[in-house]
Amino acid sequence: MFPFRKRVVTVYLMSLLACTPRNPEITAQTGPALIRIEAETGSLSGVEIAHSVAGFSGTGYVTGFDDATDQLTLTFDATAGLYELSIGYSAPSGNKGVDFQVNGEKASSTLTQNTGFGQTKTGKFQVREGRNTVTIFRGWGYFSIDFLQLTPTTVGLPEKPSKTLVDPQATASTKALFSYLVDQYGSKVISGQQDDVEYILEKTGKEPAIGSFDLMDYSPSRVQHGATPQRSSEACMAWARKGEGRGIISLLWHWNAPTDLIDQAPDKLWWSGFYTRATTFDLAATLADKQSERYQLLLRDIDTIAGELKKFQTADIPVLWRPLHEASGGWFWWGAKGAGPFKELWRLLYDRLTNHHQLHNLIWVYATTDSIHPDWYPGDSYVDVVGLDVYTDPTASLSGNWTQAQGLFAAKKLVALSETGNLPNPDQIQNLGTWWSWFSVWTGGDFIKKQPVEQLKAVYADKNVITRDELPNWRQTPSAGRKTVAGQ
Ligand code: CA
Repeated sequence: MFPFRKRVVTVYLMSLLACTPRNPEITAQTGPALIRIEAETGSLSGVEIAHSVAGFSGTGYVTGFDDATDQLTLTFDATAGLYELSIGYSAPSGNKGVDFQVNGEKASSTLTQNTGFGQTKTGKFQVREGRNTVTIFRGWGYFSIDFLQLTPTTVGLPEKPSKTLVDPQATASTKALFSYLVDQYGSKVISGQQDDVEYILEKTGKEPAIGSFDLMDYSPSRVQHGATPQRSSEACMAWARKGEGRGIISLLWHWNAPTDLIDQAPDKLWWSGFYTRATTFDLAATLADKQSERYQLLLRDIDTIAGELKKFQTADIPVLWRPLHEASGGWFWWGAKGAGPFKELWRLLYDRLTNHHQLHNLIWVYATTDSIHPDWYPGDSYVDVVGLDVYTDPTASLSGNWTQAQGLFAAKKLVALSETGNLPNPDQIQNLGTWWSWFSVWTGGDFIKKQPVEQLKAVYADKNVITRDELPNWRQTPSAGRKTVAGQ
């Protein structure tokens, strides 16, 4: 079922001796040991212990997560250290999301549909000396919890992919930029910001290394309504070229549907036309009839955007190109008809831009939601970087999201935090080994401008975060980044 081989993420289990019961005093001297807590021993609020489904461990499991206030609280004593948290569960009626909290840190994970009971890894957590608390919340509900298991682990570094781009004709600058990204991977995180690059400069005195911008208002069905880009392609290029010309450009495209906009208040107006809710444009039907007017409109839109991307190529500016994002969420029309039409559109876009339009300045970034759905992946031949777009609680380390991505893409693709609602925490990145190639915080008052300014300054001053002033002349010296020693 998986379009690629699953690789084992770099996890170093501690000695199996940790599983052997022994004197607590000896445990304290020899470090963290495996901890297992049966759910039925916890403190229950709105949930209940059950025994009817066979295959649980201990004396039962906890079920009935159906109200928003329902929760299961488990406390345990531990030796301080880094642990991988697994949840034993049952989710018979489909994949379910579970929300939980480890001491003060919120997290979430996907419980893949199963029959009977199974377990899933949810990421790495710093556990403190003495008493710890894990609370499990309803999330999507319709699951049962059997046990928690904490396995002592160590920080692993991501396995780097090769420096070969999927486009064999990629320009020298594009190859050089990718080489730089691969060199940094596992020891530095490159800063990025959606739109509000000036705000970052104003507040921190530094600029993001990556400016991420949107080609949304070049969509023909928006231009027809009089839209003009908030920041033109020329302005994006000017940002990249100013100073020593080392700014890195990322572009996404909130592609307004080519036609069939509903254009009704309050939430289906023409300018919401990239949302599934605001258009009746049917991707599956369009792709099924290549002689149709709608198919020609699809090509017209791609050709229009190709014209913008060509400007960057002419200026020798590579682009971290992030089209058709978050498809598996279904909230954008390109994901509304399922994985099949989406993947066909991705490949059509790749072929049209690369071969028909001869665009060779693109590093192809496949950006999914907060978790990866393998059946939506366009394929290794069409993707250079896998990105996650994650909007969650500011205390969340995203270790679970990272762990899932590494399980699928270690040594194959770079993994980036292509959108985030909150600033990442550089200390957590180092302590947990979540070495995103780059991060990009979303724009505006609900996201970047909501971050405490002191925290923003700290991130931009952090030794492990690359800001624009720290970029080498990556365009002319592909090996410039190799001074970075992996594992430092
Ligand atoms: Ca149990």
